[in-house]
Amino acid sequence: MKTLTTSVVVVGSGSAGISASFDLYQRHVPFILLERGDKVGGAGKFGAHGVFAINSKQQQAQGVTYGYREAFQGFTDYNHYFVNGELLARFLKASGENVDRLAAMGLPVTVEPSEQKAHLHDPLVYHKFNNFKEKMANWDALPAKFVAAGNQVLTETAAVDLDYDDGLKAVIVADKNGEQTRIEAQKVIFADGGYCGDATMMAAKYADSAELLNLGERKADGTGIKLAKQLGADTTHHPVLFAHGCAPSRNINPMRRDSSVETLTNLPLLWVDQTANRFVNEDVVYDFAMWANAAHNVNGKYYVLVDQATLDKFKTSEVPLEDTFERQFCEVGETPKTTVGPLPNIQADFDAAVTTGEVVKGTDLADLARQLQLPLTALQRSLAAYNQAVATKTDEVFLKAADELLFDVQDGPVYAIVEHCAILGTLDGVNVNRNCEPVTKAGAPIKDLYVVGNNVNGLYSDGYPSYEGIANGFAFVSGWIAAKEAAQSLK
Ligand SMILES: Cc1cc2nc3c(=O)[nH]c(=O)nc-3n(C[C@H](O)[C@H](O)[C@H](O)COP(=O)(O)OP(=O)(O)OC[C@H]3O[C@@H](n4cnc5c(N)ncnc54)[C@H](O)[C@@H]3O)c2cc1C
Repeated sequence: MKTLTTSVVVVGSGSAGISASFDLYQRHVPFILLERGDKVGGAGKFGAHGVFAINSKQQQAQGVTYGYREAFQGFTDYNHYFVNGELLARFLKASGENVDRLAAMGLPVTVEPSEQKAHLHDPLVYHKFNNFKEKMANWDALPAKFVAAGNQVLTETAAVDLDYDDGLKAVIVADKNGEQTRIEAQKVIFADGGYCGDATMMAAKYADSAELLNLGERKADGTGIKLAKQLGADTTHHPVLFAHGCAPSRNINPMRRDSSVETLTNLPLLWVDQTANRFVNEDVVYDFAMWANAAHNVNGKYYVLVDQATLDKFKTSEVPLEDTFERQFCEVGETPKTTVGPLPNIQADFDAAVTTGEVVKGTDLADLARQLQLPLTALQRSLAAYNQAVATKTDEVFLKAADELLFDVQDGPVYAIVEHCAILGTLDGVNVNRNCEPVTKAGAPIKDLYVVGNNVNGLYSDGYPSYEGIANGFAFVSGWIAAKEAAQSLK
C-alpha cells in the first residue's frame, strides 16, 4: 500500500472540513484534506445559504442586543435541556468571530432577517452568504491555496478505516477505483457530514426513511460516526433528522425552482395525510423545520389537494399568498415578492407531473381516492370540513387564518401533489467534549480523533430547531475548534 505522511488528516471538505483546513493552513500545520467527491464542497457549499452567529461585528454595529445569555438559555430551553452545554457555549461564543473568518476565507456573509416568514421578527442572528454563486466559486478556489502552502487535497478519495493502537497511527483511504493508501498522521478530524447517505443507518433510525426526500449530502455515509464508535465512542442519542421543508421529488424541488407544481406546494393550501385526514394548520409551511416535522410525523408523505378551478385561478391571477421559499432565493438586499402568479405554465407543469407521478389526477374524488388508496369516506369528510372552513372563513380545528382560507376543493378533476418530507441531512452521531473530541460513556476522550459538523451530538434534542443557520454555523465553528485543538495538542 502506498504511504503518505502528514500531521493532520481532515476527512470531508464541506463546511466543517474546509473550516478546519483553513485554520490549519493559517497555523502552518501540515495536513491532507480528503474528499470523496470529485470536487470540494458538501452540503455547506451546494446547499447552505447562511450561518447563525451572535455578537458579530455587524450585529454590534446594528445594536443587536440578543447575545450569549439569550442564545444559550433559549437554545437550552428549546431543546428541553438535551444539550451538551459546554459544547453549545463554546460554539456560541466563537460564532461572532466566525463571521470574520468566513470573510477571510472568501465566503462573506451579511446579517439579515430570517428567510422564513414565520421568523421575520426573530432576533437578528442569521448571516446570509452575500452571493451564492460566488460562495461556490470561492470555495472551489481554497484547495489551490492549501496546496501552494505544501498541503495536499485528495479528491475522489474517501477515508475508510483507521490504524489505531493507543493513538492514531494512520488513516486508510481508498480512491474511486478502490485502491488504498495509508496516510500516517497524528490527528484526524472527521468532517464527513453525518449519515443521510447510508440507507441502512437511515432505516434503523427512521420508520419513514423510504418516504424522505434526501436533498442533503448523499456521499455522507456515516464513516466518521462508525469509525469513532468502533474505537469506543459513545453514540447514544435520540435520532435527529434534519427535516427542512417538503417537496415532491428530486426533479421538482425548491433547489430547482422551475415548476408551478413546486410553487403550489409552498403555499398554505389543503393538505391531507396518508389516511386522508387533515393533519396541521398548513400555514406551518412558513416555518421550514416545523413544516417538515409535521410531514415526518405523518410518515414522511402527504398530499396537497387542488381542484381544476384553483389551477385555472393560479394560471391567470395574482394570488395573495407568499411562496415560502421566495425569501431564501432572494440575494442580500433584494425585495421578496409576497404574492404568487399568474402561473401561465401551470397546466402544462401539472400535466407533465401527472405522467411522472409527482401529481395524481382524479376525474373525481372517488377516482383520486382509488388511485391513492385513500379511504373515500375520510377524504370526503376532510374536504367537506375544509370547504366549510373556507366558506365561513373559520377553521375551527387547525385555526388557519381567514386570509389563507382561499381555495375550497370541489369534485370534478382533482389533483393531489405527492409531497415528501425533505431532509438536508442528519444531526446526531457522536458524543464529544467541548474540544470536539469523541468521548466514551465514561467521558474519556478518544485520543487523536476529532468529530465535527453534522457528525456531532449535543446541540439538538430531537429535531432541527427554528434557529436559522445553526447547523452550518456550528459546522464551521466546530471545524475551527477541532483544528485549533489538534494544533495545540501537536505542540
Ligand atoms: C440544500 C441544503 C440547504 C441548507 N441550508 C442551510 C442553511 O441555510 N443554514 C444552515 O445552517 N444549514 C443549512 N444546511 C445544512 C448545512 O449545509 C450542513 O449542516 C453543513 O454543511 C454540515 O457541514 P459538514 O461539514 O458536517 O457536512 P458537509 O458540508 O455536507 O460536508 C461533508 C463532506 O464530507 C464528504 N465525505 C463524506 N464521507 C467522506 C469520506 N468517508 N471521506 C472523504 N470525504 C467524505 C462529503 O462528500 C462532503 O463533501 C443546508 C443543507 C442543504 C443540503
